[in-house]
Amino acid sequence: MKLIIHGGFFSEYTQSEETKILKQTALKEIIQKSYQYLLLNSAMDTAVFAVALMEDDPLFNAGMGSQIQKDGKIRMSAAVMDGCTKRFSGVLNIESIQHPIHVAKSLQMESDRVLGGEGANVFAAKTGAPFFNVETIERRQEYQNRLISSGQGTVGCVVLDKEGRLAAATSTGGKGFELSGRISDSATVAGNYANDHCAISCTGVGEDIVSCALAAKIVTRVTDGQTIEEAFKKSFHELKVFDGFAGAIGIDAHGNMYHKESHPNIVYASFDGLELCVFQ
Ligand code: ASP
Repeated sequence: MKLIIHGGFFSEYTQSEETKILKQTALKEIIQKSYQYLLLNSAMDTAVFAVALMEDDPLFNAGMGSQIQKDGKIRMSAAVMDGCTKRFSGVLNIESIQHPIHVAKSLQMESDRVLGGEGANVFAAKTGAPFFNVETIERRQEYQNRLISSGQGTVGCVVLDKEGRLAAATSTGGKGFELSGRISDSATVAGNYANDHCAISCTGVGEDIVSCALAAKIVTRVTDGQTIEEAFKKSFHELKVFDGFAGAIGIDAHGNMYHKESHPNIVYASFDGLELCVFQ
């Protein structure tokens, strides 16, 4: 049993040393709680559990604390993929909800599994999710100051459970100041993908991640026989060709964990029950 979580990129230009420490401490607590949860639950449920905890923390750009778009509204995106059933489900540009990742998970059993905008809002209401204001004072201030971003902080989790099942979950508030209607990679197979060989969650500039088909590409390479390290290196090399900005975490069916970033620094933590590592 192993898992990795990420809290997106940390930008030294816009965030303090104090924020860095807060993020690391938060990731440490979340990964420990998530590992306890994994002892009794599936990879899929654990990935959702971990991402929901990060959505609750305003330090991260997902759920509470999401970035604000150009028109002043917050729209969030989230996806889950169960490597066992090969089912991808997600929501794009959903509004006023505490846990977009729970709505993405609820879509797993539906025939229409990826919903956007109003359709996603209506579906969320049908699941009983109440209106929830995810805006924080800090994000509104950044918006008013027209800063592009306080450091990308999409969240994600990849898990290998005791049955050998893999899963990936990713949730984001987007880039910040994007045009309304812009689609984030996080609820596409470029940003979140898993099968029974490998599970990947990405963060960074969605346009670059989609252009490289990053998560699906790494998973396909591992499926076709490359090691997870080779698959990451080859795929990030392809991203470099157009100076793409991205980071990813991954785990394979043998429990090998890997991460890579095109630019400094993705914040992440990994835990295998013995060794807990927190990086930035
Ligand atoms: N990938 C996200 C997006 O482009 C942003 C991020 O990872 O911070 O919507």
